[in-house]
Amino acid sequence: KRRKQDSKIKNTDAHKSTTPRKMDITSFIPFAEKACEFLTASPDPFHSVQNNTVKLEAAGYVQLSKRDPFAGKLEPGGKYYYTFNKTTLVAFAVGSKYKAGNGFKIIGGHTDSPNLKVKPHSKKSGSGCVMLGVECYGGGLWHTWLDRDLGISGRVLVRAQTNGKEIIEQKFVKIAKPVARVSSLCIHLQTAEERKSLSLCKETHLGPILGTAGILEHGARSQLTGGDQEDFWRKNQDPLLLELIANKLEIEVKNIADFELNLFDCQPATLGGLKDEFLYSARLDNQATCFVSIESLIAHTSGGGLDNDEDISMICLFDHEEVGSSSAHGAGSPIVSEAVRRISTALSEEKGTLNPDLYSACIRKSFLLSVDQAHAIHPNFPNKHEKNHAPKMNAGVVMKTNQNQRYTTNSVTGFIIREIVRKANITPVQEFVVRNDCPCGSTIGPILSTATGIRTVDAGMPQLSMHSCREVMGIVDLTNCLELFQGFFTHFREIDDYLEG
Ligand SMILES: [Zn+2]
Repeated sequence: KRRKQDSKIKNTDAHKSTTPRKMDITSFIPFAEKACEFLTASPDPFHSVQNNTVKLEAAGYVQLSKRDPFAGKLEPGGKYYYTFNKTTLVAFAVGSKYKAGNGFKIIGGHTDSPNLKVKPHSKKSGSGCVMLGVECYGGGLWHTWLDRDLGISGRVLVRAQTNGKEIIEQKFVKIAKPVARVSSLCIHLQTAEERKSLSLCKETHLGPILGTAGILEHGARSQLTGGDQEDFWRKNQDPLLLELIANKLEIEVKNIADFELNLFDCQPATLGGLKDEFLYSARLDNQATCFVSIESLIAHTSGGGLDNDEDISMICLFDHEEVGSSSAHGAGSPIVSEAVRRISTALSEEKGTLNPDLYSACIRKSFLLSVDQAHAIHPNFPNKHEKNHAPKMNAGVVMKTNQNQRYTTNSVTGFIIREIVRKANITPVQEFVVRNDCPCGSTIGPILSTATGIRTVDAGMPQLSMHSCREVMGIVDLTNCLELFQGFFTHFREIDDYLEG
């Protein structure tokens, strides 16, 4: 409470130089614990999107059907969302002072993380063990998946009846107990060369073990091979896996029509470090952004933030970033340009038609904050960062610059973010540029700005162990990020207006 009041008072001196926030760690813990809950409950993009839509609905957001025209359904002050494939989420709120052709303030992130996904032909065995066929998704640090207690989650297509007609229901399943494990090879059986290289063959060394064949022979296996009407898909799955899913969903095995599953680490997200100043979890990249961005949109649109808002405030969380974003619901798809066009059209004076010139004007007034986790400096590998661009955990959101356009930030878009920091009097951003002799990651930022022409900046919360099965970040940065997002929704228009003269 006190912190809030302090920042209100300081806001009147917004242009004075700022000092980093006083580190009373306990005040950051409640928000970090909320993040832990979200992370543990979101082992895959399906659950991430679902958990965020539950929060949006509770905050008064209305689901739109993408297959029907938006015209007649949107109004200034309104709050809406829709999804693609149940793994990509678009949520937005219309400012009460919105006029057709006004801009979009967009925060973009991604819902997917590297993991092991179950293959279409998942049934596999070897050396007396019941195994699971899996495919590596994205660029995981695969050795970190060894010897972890793994659960299974994802989407299951289930045959059901309604009014005597057959339908297919999509159910999400989360088996949060250690049913699978990828075991490492003991050190004694490794040659000196193998010990040194720590290398794994992605096809042969990452097979999860579900059980031992002898134990399972007399159980579900024998029951399920006869009797049921088998189809060609089900024959490719281990009966025990199907039984596990059926029990969890309280359905019959024969009604499982298909599935899309992945493995995840069962260990819940937790706070750690001497003062609980760290958050240890899987999928911080980029579920941390999914969590903070929706929290910030709800905060902006619940507390009277829309009253003086002339623009659309929007969050877009995409699937498939970890594999390049090229898919029907990845950032490389038309989702953002389509959203801008459809929403602007639905809110135009002659509802249902939009002057193309007005659409282009709207694009030029819009701004995208592309948010993905950033690399903090690692105390065991300090030489991996250039010392002037070495962000620290718990020290602020990182702004990423790369002149080769792996990141989108330039002097103007970077200035807008720094100016938001000054206006809102929040923790300054830290600057990151990758070393010249080091390869650089990329984000959805360059993809979205190329596709839409919207000015973009790349930023994110600093963390270690990116793409590990278990990552770490500082809890203060969750609040730093929340305040930056709220500052963006509150101050962007004013800054953009005086920037453009
Ligand atoms: Zn990422």
